[in-house]
This record gives sequence, C-alpha cells and structure tokens, in this order.
Amino acid sequence: MAIVEVLDVVGDDCHSKPTMLSTDLVSTLQSFAEDWYRQFPVAFGQADTVDRFRGKYSSLVSSLLMLRGSDQHILHRFADAISEVTFGGATMVRGVIEWTNLCQRSCDYCPMRKENGSGRGSANVSRYQMTSGEIADNAKRILQDGLSVVFIQGGEIPKIDALCEAISEIQRESKRRAQPVEILVNVGTLDEERYARLRKAGAGSAIIKLEHADAETAEAATHYSYSERRQRIRDVLQLGYRVGTGTIQGIPRRNNSSSDSAQGEVHNAFLGVELGTHMISVSPFVAAPDTPYAHEPSGNVDVALNMIAVMRILDPAAIIPAVSAFEKLERGGQRRAFHAGANNITVNYNESHGQEYLIYGKQRKRVSFAHGTSVMRQAGRFHASASDVWRLHSSARAKLLHSEFFLLPCSANRSTRRTSAGLRCRGARDRTKRPLVYSK
Ligand code: SF4
Repeated sequence: MAIVEVLDVVGDDCHSKPTMLSTDLVSTLQSFAEDWYRQFPVAFGQADTVDRFRGKYSSLVSSLLMLRGSDQHILHRFADAISEVTFGGATMVRGVIEWTNLCQRSCDYCPMRKENGSGRGSANVSRYQMTSGEIADNAKRILQDGLSVVFIQGGEIPKIDALCEAISEIQRESKRRAQPVEILVNVGTLDEERYARLRKAGAGSAIIKLEHADAETAEAATHYSYSERRQRIRDVLQLGYRVGTGTIQGIPRRNNSSSDSAQGEVHNAFLGVELGTHMISVSPFVAAPDTPYAHEPSGNVDVALNMIAVMRILDPAAIIPAVSAFEKLERGGQRRAFHAGANNITVNYNESHGQEYLIYGKQRKRVSFAHGTSVMRQAGRFHASASDVWRLHSSARAKLLHSEFFLLPCSANRSTRRTSAGLRCRGARDRTKRPLVYSK
C-alpha cells in the first residue's frame, strides 16, 4: 500500500502568500485523487468511463490548470509527492537520434512539413536521412554515456528499411556490451505492418502524438484523420509496445472561445488515462517560422506545468517527460516540469544534422547531456536505468489496477524513503524542503 503523508504543504521555499483557496486545496486534491483511484481499475483506458469522471471534475480541473503562486506551488508539490511515491526520484534519461527530417505530412506547426524544401515554397529545408550505420554509431555514443534508452525520432516516411537494420544492430551492440537497451521510436503514424516490422527488429516503445484531444483541432493542425491516429495507438498497444502520446498546450484552435479552450485543455489532461498509454507528454506551443502557425502566440508554460501535475495525479505510474519546449520558452522551465511531476528527460545526440532538424525552427533548444543531467540533479532526481524505471512503473500500475494505491493524510513524521519496488531514493532534495513524504 502506498501512502503519501501530507505534513505542511506550503513549504518554506514558497515566496508568495497562500490565498484562501490554499487552506482547502490539499483536501480538494486528495478527494479528487482518491475518487479517481477508486475508479482507476475500471476506468483506465476506457474512454466512456473516463469521460464521465472528467465531466464530474471538469470545472475543478479547469481551475487547477489556471493556478498560480502559492496555490500552484501546492498543486505541484502534491503531484511531485505522488511521483516520489512511485519513482523515488528515479529518472529515465533518453538519448535521441533524429534520423531524418524528410516527411510526407503537412502539420501546420512544423517546419519539416512536406511543403517546405525540395525547391518548393519559400522555406527550403536541407533534407537528410541517416544511414543505418550512422544511426547505430550515434546509438553507440548513447550507450557509452551510460544511457539505456535510444530514442529514434524523425519525420514520417514509408521506407523504414534503414531504421529496421539500425534497430537490429543496436540490439546486437547491446548484447555485445551486456548493456540492456530500450529502443523508443517516434516516427509519425506509420501503418500497423510497419510498426510490426520495427517491433520485430527490436523496438520496444513508441510515441504517437495527437496534438489535441479535440478531433477538429488535431485534424486542422495535421490534415490527418484523428480517428485513424487514435486507432493506431490502440494497434501499437496490441503489438506489445509501451506507448506514449501527447498534446501541445496552446495549439491554435478553430473555436477559440475561452470556455472552449479551457475544456479542451481539461480533455488533454485526461488523454493518457483515456487511451491507457504508458507515457504522456505536454509541450507548450512554440510558433516556428515558415509554417502556417508562424505568427500564433506561444503556449502558456504555467498552464502546461499545471497540466503535468494533473496528469501525474491521474496516473502516478506514467512516464512524463520534461520536454525541451519548457526550456525554450522559459529558462529553468524543465526543472519546474520535474517539480510538477515529470520523471524523464531527453538529451540530443544529433550533432551532424542538428541544425537541419527543425522541430521549432533553427532557434530550437537542443538539450545537451550536461544540461539534461544538471537539470535532473537540480530537481533532486537521479539517473536510473530504463529497466528500473519500468519496474517501478509496473509496480505502481499494478497497485492502481488492484485498488491498492491510496493517499492517506497523516501527521506522523516518518523518515523512510523507499519506493514501493524497494529502489533507494538518492539525490533527493533537502527533507526540510519536502513537505510531502512517503512511507510504506
Ligand atoms: S510534426 Fe512530424 S509528422 Fe508532422 S510534418 Fe513535422 S515531422 Fe512530419
């Protein structure tokens, strides 16, 4: 049984004065979380049941997403404590190889869309595609740095032979070194047969992002069937992948009334539990040049951070990344994402083509190994292997599915700090600054 003890939620590192809401916020969060954990065994991955629960709490979640100051601090502390219950500070660090910027899609927020480059349009992109050897060489550098997740991402292209060859070679290299590796792919929305080939080659996890839980908004941004992409997430889960999805906070919407936007963000926060994924992300929108959305306003870092906190409360077992867009929009943004409940960071291993992979245009934030590990340590986290993190994930997921995950208010000052799977928590922040503690 997991227990979170709520001692004194407004920590002494909180500078702003608590509002009246603060006095009730912890108990409100506890009631919300406990009600959800009671539903979890029947609701996780079941859209209809999640829909009913979301309807019941939509005005609360909408308010949570707007919190600032000390109330926001409480929300983040609450979520961070749940992250600690599950992971004890254990953090997965992914090394990303951006294998190609070729793409057959036309996402309105992305400079690598097919309309740019190849001499057409005003925004030529210097296109590249790594060979299987280049991918495998970059993967070796990732393994040499002691990371256990090789994350291969790129535009959506149908010809994936080089990718399959590289994945097989990385798995062989992992065996030669006796160093386990997880291979994660984020390569658009391929058909089921191609995901099966990648899986057979040795990929173990896959990300298929949806931009927004609202079909109209997602289709307006991508010109691609939303239902087909949701179906592909289900297919990929069936193929045995660990699956991630994610949304873009503040992506331009067709119907942009404030109430509609707020409800849309609430729906986004529930997307991971609705689809039953293992990983869920949120990125604040960053307008990129040479795209139809080039002049749209950026997303809101605070709303996106609050969304991480809500997603952490909804799924204590989820892998949630502190994405680079947080750092791009606000210095220190990735550290704040960890404090809101994130437990994963990606560092970049694309030195040869980094300037050509235009995820947010040429002014993107490329996260170096030094930056990624420094942010992780500043947030009081420690680098753990993918297998350890997944073991902790599975343990928490099993507790959630068997109604054995509880939050109990308690004033006892216990000092045990072990995760439910027994992994020691190292590198944690000063306990005097940790109002929420875990005991078992
Ligand atoms: S977001 Fe991905 S799928 Fe869409 S255009 Fe860019 S690279 Fe292609």
